[in-house]
Amino acid sequence: MIFDIWILNLKIMNFPLFKTKMTPQSGDRESEGKDITFNLTDPVERNDYFHYKADEEIDKLKDYVRENTFIVYLLGKKNSGKGTYSKMFAEIINPDRIEHFSVGDMIRSVSKDIQDGAKKKEIEDYLKKNYRGWVPAEDLIKAIENRDTKTLLPTELILALVKREIGMRPKKTIFIDGFPREMDQVSYSLFFRDLIGAREDQDIMAFIDVPTSVIEERIKWRRICPICNTSRSIKLLPTARVGYDEAAKEFYLICDNPKCAGYDKQRLVPKEGDELGIAPLKDRLELDQKLMEKAMVLYGIPKVFLRNSVPVSAAKEYVDDYELTPEFEFSWDGKEVKVSQKPWIINDDEGVPSYSLMAAPVVVSLIKQLSKVLGL
Ligand SMILES: [Zn+2]
Repeated sequence: MIFDIWILNLKIMNFPLFKTKMTPQSGDRESEGKDITFNLTDPVERNDYFHYKADEEIDKLKDYVRENTFIVYLLGKKNSGKGTYSKMFAEIINPDRIEHFSVGDMIRSVSKDIQDGAKKKEIEDYLKKNYRGWVPAEDLIKAIENRDTKTLLPTELILALVKREIGMRPKKTIFIDGFPREMDQVSYSLFFRDLIGAREDQDIMAFIDVPTSVIEERIKWRRICPICNTSRSIKLLPTARVGYDEAAKEFYLICDNPKCAGYDKQRLVPKEGDELGIAPLKDRLELDQKLMEKAMVLYGIPKVFLRNSVPVSAAKEYVDDYELTPEFEFSWDGKEVKVSQKPWIINDDEGVPSYSLMAAPVVVSLIKQLSKVLGL
């Protein structure tokens, strides 16, 4: 009982609000009272924004990754933006030295590779040399070949494959997404850097807290171009041009990818299954939550805490307005589509009305916390 309360407290305490709002320098009359704003969907302005908010830490991290590497385990619910945050971090610090890699993608690509005779041989040889466990290499290959999403691959196999992937990325800082993936893998992650050997990297756990309602709405409003696969959101990230279907009384997004054959004419459509929201992910989301809670109470490994939402009541003190995710609304006046936006409000998992943050302020929090735990 005491233990439960303790975990609950930790859970709340460990996801502190992170202040990205800047107070104007006292005496700096020039900027006082003036609103400096950035359009965070524009890559150039986003870059300026990062330097405005975390210039010193960015310089230190840039210096650091020139000579050093580290490993970050990303822990968060499926679709919590793990890939987005780490890619944005790499872009701003050093894309040549930092890589994001997903264990799910790795398994998919290994399953594909073993269709090819030469590659299959290479993987089998690697496993014979590097895998330690209870299953012969030939059977492991078969397990990967016949893999369906419900069959779990042995943890020892995942470890060997992750080791192989890291070996292919020498001298790189790596953000690992999807490991630990099962409860028994949590303690492996503690010794992981010793298991893979050769690298004396600092390892860090990054926890990502995203309200379930945000995950659900992102899925529900997702729209995809059937030609180029561009993925946007009719509520949160529309394309440059929006159309209105008078017969169906429905707004739709039009592909704005200049490289797409359907540029400026193709309608974006919902992905099959998306209308179900998070229902098909329920088990995965619950397991991801348990993994986070188990890993959160570990000693000996530095941790950073990223939260995607901020209570409406605290927003003014902690964040700037342009750091909030907007919600887009459309109206039709018989001639054209009018677009308006307002801050998007959702209930977080405790039922507190909250704003969802854009990815960039979450990455500012990542930059500052990493710089601190690395002792820079
Ligand atoms: Zn397209």
